[in-house]
Amino acid sequence: MSSPNTPVLITGAASGIGAACARALAATGRPTVLWDRDESGVAAVAKQIEQDDGAPVVATGIDVSDVSRYDDALAEARRIVGRIGGFVHCAGIVDSTPMTEVPLEAWQRVFDVNLTAFAYGTAALAEDLTALPDSAVVAISSINATLGQANIPSYSASKAGVLGLTRSLAAQLGRSGVRVNAVCPGYIETPMLSRSLADARRGARMSGDAMLGRVGQPEEVASVVRFLLSTEASFVTGSTLFVDGGVTASDRLGSLD
Ligand code: NAP
Repeated sequence: MSSPNTPVLITGAASGIGAACARALAATGRPTVLWDRDESGVAAVAKQIEQDDGAPVVATGIDVSDVSRYDDALAEARRIVGRIGGFVHCAGIVDSTPMTEVPLEAWQRVFDVNLTAFAYGTAALAEDLTALPDSAVVAISSINATLGQANIPSYSASKAGVLGLTRSLAAQLGRSGVRVNAVCPGYIETPMLSRSLADARRGARMSGDAMLGRVGQPEEVASVVRFLLSTEASFVTGSTLFVDGGVTASDRLGSLD
């Protein structure tokens, strides 16, 4: 796969899909900057990458909802790996509370992590992205951006917002050669889903909803992210790519409660 060799910032890189993206990109030789609020977790992923790939990697413990920390954290990263030509916003949280019961603080927290960090992360990187060739951004949304599930209103709304923001950023940055796309994973086996998957009935429903009859692995999302960040995807921007084993295309979609 033809890939630029510029560094990529990945949020939520200590676990699940974010960690898989970091490993997939480092395997192509790209330097990576890993952000996660789990400081020891992100350091462990970085150590593994150094051992396996030898690609330059910077790990930072940071809560991405604290936008005021971005400038310092990016300055530190640039000091080590130089200007950043790729961004994967993967950090995300779910709050399982129906709308009639969601406290404002919890609602805002989900938006801060899932959507605002994507907005201000891209803004903080815009100068780097536009200065470097073949720069690209990928936001991890969710099938829940398009599905109606009663108990995760803030998650669904924030992930739908990610799709709108993806198109807006693609329009703003396209003439500068920067591509911006979104990926909507289906049910992927990560710590975020571990409790649901441990419940036999819910686990079977999640597998059964997919045309492929199974849940996905983080690496199956990471390979699509890597593609979107590569020059193989040089004419793809403003797009939403579903990586869901056919869940959203299926007429067998059940309602999860
Ligand atoms: P995960 O294993 O829980 O990984 C998410 C990572 O983001 C965790 O390390 C988490 O840290 C970190 N994080 C959360 N809030 C943060 C914050 N404020 N600042 C910095 N880091 C933060 O979950 P995942 O399944 O890989 O999810 C990755 C993305 O995919 C999310 O955006 C999620 O919405 C999306 N997604 C997942 C699925 C799925 O089925 N797994 C499906 C659709 C979309 P903590 O461990 O400390 O929380």
